[in-house]
Amino acid sequence: MKMTEQTFEIIKKQAIRLKSLESSLYHKKFADFDLESMQSQEDFEKLPFTDKNDLRDVYPLGLAAVPMSQVVRIHSSSGTTGTPVIIPYTKKDVDDWSEQFKRCYEIAGITKEDRLQITPGYGLWTAGIGFQLGAELLGATAIPMGPGNTEKQLQFMQDMGATVICATSSYALLLAEEIEKRGIKDKIKLKKGVIGSERWGEKMRKRIRESLGIELYDIYGLTEIYGPGIGINCEYDCGMHVFDDYCYYEVINPKTGETVPDGEMGELVITTLQKEGAPLVRFRTHDLTRIIPGECKCGRKYPRIDVIMGRSDDLFKVKGVNMFPAQIEDVLKAVDGASCEYRVEIDHVNGKDHMMVLFETDLPFDRFTELEQKAQAHFKSRIGMTPDIKAVPNGTLPRSEKKSKRVVDNRN
Ligand code: ZN
Repeated sequence: MKMTEQTFEIIKKQAIRLKSLESSLYHKKFADFDLESMQSQEDFEKLPFTDKNDLRDVYPLGLAAVPMSQVVRIHSSSGTTGTPVIIPYTKKDVDDWSEQFKRCYEIAGITKEDRLQITPGYGLWTAGIGFQLGAELLGATAIPMGPGNTEKQLQFMQDMGATVICATSSYALLLAEEIEKRGIKDKIKLKKGVIGSERWGEKMRKRIRESLGIELYDIYGLTEIYGPGIGINCEYDCGMHVFDDYCYYEVINPKTGETVPDGEMGELVITTLQKEGAPLVRFRTHDLTRIIPGECKCGRKYPRIDVIMGRSDDLFKVKGVNMFPAQIEDVLKAVDGASCEYRVEIDHVNGKDHMMVLFETDLPFDRFTELEQKAQAHFKSRIGMTPDIKAVPNGTLPRSEKKSKRVVDNRN
């Protein structure tokens, strides 16, 4: 994303200040950088990244960039590897987060007339409370349910006349199924769903949308950067708007660390512009997406990132081309007759990479060759390389919940 002069000045000033703080992780990180002479976006792009491990290393309160007397709250993101990350928030940070969340609701067409049933968890992590802050700032009615207790959820949904459900995709699906099962759809007033940003399939989306008869909005965010509510799709459903007055967004090649041009897939990297408690410079989200070039049809000036396509850790490289599982899925989606069940096998034979894509189909055997050729053409035009392709009958391939497991790399 092109950095405005104003954004550059904010970032430069912030970097210099963080470096001067002896307690800050940036004191060491920027030690070898002459920040004062930084002059352009290009110079900024030479600064080192901040990764989740950096935040873990300064546990518990090493991220605090203000005296603790100014910290009004902490949140924590859990890690799979033990030590959590603690994020301190000042009053301004909490207010800024609420403001962004409020904007998200507004983009989703939610007003103060709405009643929001909030089912994400309340506690150390940033889910439930973020949904609530935004709702209250908007002036809507928050119903802070938290997760679980489906019986009570459905009762309150009817009795309070909830019009918006805030949930993870899996919980929204569970509620939709329960409502269907009990035949209480005519007692439910839901119009919209605001769904947390875990990657979820089009099939699941369709089921929730159709069984509840509601519009769905994807909300983006992560605890290290405020929390959920820093981005959302609009009525045109073409990527998520993000707020460039609060954060600077870039997309990098996760292997080389180089910034990629707008429109190209890569890993999202975020620099906070206004955070006081725990400002972050070039934080690697490990989320795969792209910056969508141009203005949105809705006319809003906020830039857009695409829906999250997966984790950058799932990326693999064949014959010099970077690919990730969701991309394979997208290519297959474009091929009429191909299902989204696939398997990728990568080998190294006679000094050369070899990639085979197997996918399932309902079509009869005599159409397989035609289908394979179509898929090959799509791979070439969309990904820039042509793997070997093999169509197989439905039900042939092993099933796995984890998309990354569908790529079998035998090269090592
Ligand atoms: Zn829009």
